[in-house]
Amino acid sequence: MLKIFCSKKRAVAVWLVIALIITVCVSTAVVNSITAVGTGNDKTIVIDVGHGGRDGGVVGSTGIKEADVNLGISKSLKHFLKEDGYNVIMTRESDVDLAYGNEFKKTDMLARKRIIDSASPDLVVSIHQNSFPDKDVYGAQVFYAPSSDEGKRLAESMQTVLNANLSCSRMAKNGDYYIIQCSPHLSVLVECGFLSNPREESLLVTANYQRKVAYSIYSSIKSFLS
Ligand SMILES: [Zn+2]
Repeated sequence: MLKIFCSKKRAVAVWLVIALIITVCVSTAVVNSITAVGTGNDKTIVIDVGHGGRDGGVVGSTGIKEADVNLGISKSLKHFLKEDGYNVIMTRESDVDLAYGNEFKKTDMLARKRIIDSASPDLVVSIHQNSFPDKDVYGAQVFYAPSSDEGKRLAESMQTVLNANLSCSRMAKNGDYYIIQCSPHLSVLVECGFLSNPREESLLVTANYQRKVAYSIYSSIKSFLS
């Protein structure tokens, strides 16, 4: 009786171990497939980080350089996109310019175009900050290439998200910017806010607000491409 009981007990224990192994294997496979797939799988995004190095861009009243704010927002945007499985290429990852030779602005732009061309991305987003003589003007604004209907649709949907998340009410506009017209790829340029507006400047310098801007851009890219 004791012997039978023991072997039954052993058999139950063996089955329990087998069931446990199967459960662990199946749940690991599910977790792996979620991690590997993501929504951004196989999609490449180029983040063009405006200005940098010898070109600081516009400067706020506290002396903050546009180039630094652009880099902060871009790094945060890269983080959100990569977490979701996108391939991300940034035109710069530190405070440098891309210029060479004598013609600073021209070669800096050509170097950015070269990065876009070799990435052959699904989408290009160029990150900038704005400035205006009237210090009351504020808000994020998205620009698209005048000839791109798809760019216009992306810019308008991104503008809606930015207006809602950042409590502003600007309109997407077409803009004659080289970076959004230099390649055949879907491109927008985001002026994330006005460094000439003291209140907006005080927000744009914080990591928290930079994350908020980046998340808004990320979520509109995600919904547009899916
Ligand atoms: Zn700029």
